[in-house]
Amino acid sequence: EIAVEARELYRFYRSGDEETLALRGVSVQVRRGETVAVLGPSGSGKSTLLVCLAGLDEPDGGAVHVAGERISHRPESERAHLRARRIGVLLQSDNLITHLDVRANVRLAQTAVPRAGGRGVDELLDEVGLAHRARALPQELSGGELARAGLAVALANGPDLLLADEPTGELDGAAEQRVLELLRSRASEGRGVLIVTHSPEAVRVADRVVVLRDGRVAS
Ligand code: ADP
Ligand code: ADP
Repeated sequence: EIAVEARELYRFYRSGDEETLALRGVSVQVRRGETVAVLGPSGSGKSTLLVCLAGLDEPDGGAVHVAGERISHRPESERAHLRARRIGVLLQSDNLITHLDVRANVRLAQTAVPRAGGRGVDELLDEVGLAHRARALPQELSGGELARAGLAVALANGPDLLLADEPTGELDGAAEQRVLELLRSRASEGRGVLIVTHSPEAVRVADRVVVLRDGRVAS
């Protein structure tokens, strides 16, 4: 079963006379239970691909389906609704509200989409190893804890697809390992995980690696 499928994606950015072809016919598929790492030099289109998969941006050509439902070429409100039900997004800048503690952040992400069969806040915090930090504010957390709190927020809606942009960008070895291991275990329980990364460690835990170059899949 497919968590996300992108077919022949094109994305042009226009500013004045300048036109950048950020994506030039990119096709990517992530099955449920699979972890895919997306690599490529700076400017190769990785972030553009991620926001198109998340329905945060619209491709100019091609189509994106998430868990069998088309998310591209639909009104923003419908994309947002589909995203809220199906997708967890973990961005580089952490996705936490600074004046709420960890528990309230996860609860907020969860109450936005009450979903049957979803995990409780405490269960989620326990899974990412943050039960003891539930009452801490984001600024009181270490880098590794911040990344894991962001992951708990991204998982709060029980998504079919988890999209992560450099989730371990600023972490050292042990903290990075821990976050990658969590991302991977989320995939093994039946959701698709796609990680945009530079990290050799992330490549090691991935089932498949997609390399982008100049807006195309190079390998
Ligand atoms: P990566 O994530 O691999 O570094 P990006 O997807 O950010 O690559 O960028 C791909 C190309 O699209 C780059 O040439 C970048 O300059 C361009 N680009 C990205 N976002 C915009 C934007 N909002 N406006 C204009 N050009 C953009
Ligand atoms: P991790 O390996 O998960 O990044 P660390 O070993 O960096 O964790 O941190 C261990 C403990 O030290 C954590 O409980 C964390 O709260 C505390 N800590 C680390 N850095 C900071 C910081 N900048 N501010 C407050 N507490 C911190």
